[in-house]
Amino acid sequence: MAFDKALAFTIAALILFVVANAFPFMGFGLPGDIRHTTLVTGSIEMYRQGAIALSLIVIFASVVIPALQMILLLYLLVPLNLGYRPREIPAVMKTLHYMGNWSMMDVFLLAILVSTVKLADMAHIVPGPALFAFVVLIFMLAGAQASFDEERVWSMVKVPDPDPAADEIIECHVCHLAVPIDHHHERHAHCPRCNTALHYRKPDSLQRTWAMVIGALICYIPANALPIMHTTSLGNTQSDTILSGIIYLLHHGSWPIALVIFFASVLIPLTKLLILMYLLLSVKMRASWRPRERTRMYQLAELVGKWSMVDVFVVSILVSLVQMGNLASIEAAHGALFFCAVVIITMFAAMAFDPRLIWDNLGETNDRLSTRYA
Ligand SMILES: [Zn+2]
Repeated sequence: MAFDKALAFTIAALILFVVANAFPFMGFGLPGDIRHTTLVTGSIEMYRQGAIALSLIVIFASVVIPALQMILLLYLLVPLNLGYRPREIPAVMKTLHYMGNWSMMDVFLLAILVSTVKLADMAHIVPGPALFAFVVLIFMLAGAQASFDEERVWSMVKVPDPDPAADEIIECHVCHLAVPIDHHHERHAHCPRCNTALHYRKPDSLQRTWAMVIGALICYIPANALPIMHTTSLGNTQSDTILSGIIYLLHHGSWPIALVIFFASVLIPLTKLLILMYLLLSVKMRASWRPRERTRMYQLAELVGKWSMVDVFVVSILVSLVQMGNLASIEAAHGALFFCAVVIITMFAAMAFDPRLIWDNLGETNDRLSTRYA
């Protein structure tokens, strides 16, 4: 059977997901007084502290979206393995397509590693059974996604015959169907397979990308200037910004982890914004310089973006673990929310940019050259 491997991985992932949420995730404290937490304790604690937006973002990226992803995969894979066609394939496949970027369990795993290093010399850390389930779960979900043949599922959807007046082809950016259309009707064209609006180029791509890049740059200032968390220990409150957290790790933790956080929290968001600005300017100035390399830059920026969320998850884990009353407690602060905004707005900015624009200028240069030398 074509889908049995993907189904096996998905069922295994779903069982591990239940275990990862039902059992203690990590314990932290002094011997004899260990506080046990679950995967969602961080979100609940931040919600209780009033950081509602932050708690919702964390719980969506680390629990809700991965759960929906697995349920939707199961919804498709069970009937497919039993030999009949599931209903609503386009709607379900489209939802899976859009959720892909926002499922961040792998980033959460990195955050766990960083948190344990940060807390190692403070008190005891006790890994719970849910932690082991969580680690294996990430591999199972990756296996399910890798063995899920999307093209084959899409090919089960019947597509009506193309418009006889069609004189142009547009590729659907969701299901990748090449749709022949009549260019007079391009404005209102929809994909016959998944009903996504078709565009020769994403509408107003440059303006929308610029608006979001500027928005992200504005948020970048408070994200770095304001503390991302407050640590209260024996009556003293200390506030940490992203940068002071990195310096702390450099002195008290380990330099590889400090480097990881530096990459994820400082270098990646800034580089991503710089790449987008460079691409926007290069398209505006009709540059024809190395289009393949510029497209690669864009793809790289899109791929690494979500890893910037690691520090936000670290805050949520520290908030969940370090609640030892007067001895020590950690609270999320506004900087974390602004930082979250930078990451999310930048992800949307990358989605709004149309990399095909890079190649358009090249076409024009070629046309100009060919008319000049004809
Ligand atoms: Zn489509």
